[in-house]
Amino acid sequence: MRILLIEDEHKLANAIKRALELQKYAVDVVYDGEEGFNLTIGEEACDLIISDIMLPSLDGIEFCKRIRQEGIHTPVLMLTAKGQIQDKVVGLDNGADDYMVKPFSFDELFARVRALVRRPKGERDPMLKIADLRLDPVNFKVIRAGKQIKLSTREFSILEYLMRNQNKVVGKKHLIAHVWDYDANILPGTVEVHIKNIRDKIDKPFTKRLIHTVRGFGYEIKVEN
Ligand code: CA
Repeated sequence: MRILLIEDEHKLANAIKRALELQKYAVDVVYDGEEGFNLTIGEEACDLIISDIMLPSLDGIEFCKRIRQEGIHTPVLMLTAKGQIQDKVVGLDNGADDYMVKPFSFDELFARVRALVRRPKGERDPMLKIADLRLDPVNFKVIRAGKQIKLSTREFSILEYLMRNQNKVVGKKHLIAHVWDYDANILPGTVEVHIKNIRDKIDKPFTKRLIHTVRGFGYEIKVEN
């Protein structure tokens, strides 16, 4: 799960980034609206955007309006300063999905983030399923054939991403972009090592293989007939 955070107060931005990373999200931070906009309409889509309203160059409301005009439907959580309740209405009118008043507790932030990332595509059940494999993105649990499996944070994120894109080939580069931070320097070999470890846990002990390699490109999670 990759989150873009747009917040010009560096201290707050870095605190939020650290807190979210501890919750197993990959977080990119930018400090102004224009930069946030350019990143959002760029090649690597994120799964959720958290944006302050008062921002240099392009404010949060305008940012939201412009990305919606570009046809980008990524959920947006707005941050607003206390007392600017009018911002809430304007923000929601311009395509924001939720808002939080500063200062807020991280627990509340995590709850909002979880609610927003599980909302997309009209899915009511947040549990991801393929064959006898279940992944619970809210409680960070993986179960195959009734047996709970322990994965590392990174392995969990990779498996979650593959399961959200099941029956589609996911390129290594794409996987890196969604599971690691924007500025992390990850080589395809690192992805291969993680995939091997995931396979050892979720595929090897079971009869049916679910993760398939697409040579020279990436991976696909699917049930083979
Ligand atoms: Ca601000």
